[in-house]
Amino acid sequence: MSIQENISLLPYNTFRMDVKARVFAEYNSVEELKELLVRYKGEQILHIGQGSNLLFTKDFDGIILHSAMRRARCVSEDEENVWIEADNGLVMDELIEQLCDMGISGMENLSYIPGEVGASAVQNVGAYGVEAKDVIETVRAISVETGTEHVFTNAECKYGYRDSIFKNELRGQYIITYVVFKLNKHLAPKLDYGNLRSEVSGEMSATAIREAVIRIRKQKLPEVSETGSAGSFFKNPIVPRELYESVAARYDKVPHYEQDGGIKIPAAWLIEQCGWKGKKKGGAQCYEKQPLVLVNAGNASPEDIIHLAAAICADVKNKFGITISPEVNYI
Ligand SMILES: Cc1cc2nc3c(=O)[nH]c(=O)nc-3n(C[C@H](O)[C@H](O)[C@H](O)COP(=O)(O)OP(=O)(O)OC[C@H]3O[C@@H](n4cnc5c(N)ncnc54)[C@H](O)[C@@H]3O)c2cc1C
Repeated sequence: MSIQENISLLPYNTFRMDVKARVFAEYNSVEELKELLVRYKGEQILHIGQGSNLLFTKDFDGIILHSAMRRARCVSEDEENVWIEADNGLVMDELIEQLCDMGISGMENLSYIPGEVGASAVQNVGAYGVEAKDVIETVRAISVETGTEHVFTNAECKYGYRDSIFKNELRGQYIITYVVFKLNKHLAPKLDYGNLRSEVSGEMSATAIREAVIRIRKQKLPEVSETGSAGSFFKNPIVPRELYESVAARYDKVPHYEQDGGIKIPAAWLIEQCGWKGKKKGGAQCYEKQPLVLVNAGNASPEDIIHLAAAICADVKNKFGITISPEVNYI
């Protein structure tokens, strides 16, 4: 394991916030993770992946844990399916690339989402009509308090839109160590979302879909290596039908989808209507190609991002009476 003290978290968060952590510890095995949990018992602990959904608002006076476990293995298979167990620290997109190369499908729509396997099961990452919950079979996790393992079934993870038990009742209580994904040997393409179907070129395969997804994402989203961001900053609000109808009476062609008994209105549309698309506040900017994304337009401080997000939320509330809330975790 490696333990560093008082280090900058700049390389460990995609928003590129230059804050410090008192301790940054990286482990190579579950045994090492358990040792760290004993050593730092009672301290404030935060486990991170690639830091692609975090906004560090200030120096972190606690222990940051990170996994250097980055393998995956087949644990079972039958005629139709294959079960892959992946380590928490494996980069999701590397796993997906390998699976597509092997002709194993199920996760290709999730291509190019930043982040590691452990976090994908916390966040229930989703894109182009597929969510992690659709392929997660079980999640193995270690209790921060006792160091014992618990295996969560998919149902026990209580998945919802970018949501899980690990973000609610069990927030901060478990460290996910392995995720078992149930995948397909035969391609069952999911192409109904947006313009995905028309983007797939050549013979249909998991790789062809992956390449199409990557092409679309590159047109719309900032490259992590070039521009600091945490992807979609806000969740799409699901509002009562009456509220949607009052908005639809005042505006032309309000985009909307039925979901969970309410009406989902894209936060990007609400933000654009408020005139924020492309606008800057300090070093923070509402991304010009996708207003749901806030970017670090150069040396943004945490306060710059916080103030921009708050101003956008206030404008959406004033104009539409709709509350939008961050998807990003404020730390
Ligand atoms: C350019 C860009 C595009 C994006 N596009 C999408 C998208 O299309 N769809 C989508 O869903 N998301 C998207 N995201 C958000 C982000 O990629 C996901 O939320 C991803 O799952 C975060 O992974 P991470 O490893 O960076 O986790 P982090 O940001 O480091 O952590 C996220 C949360 O998970 C917790 N956590 C991390 N690892 C563990 C573990 N092993 N055990 C327990 N808790 C843990 C952390 O404490 C934190 O609460 C995007 C982000 C960026 C920057």
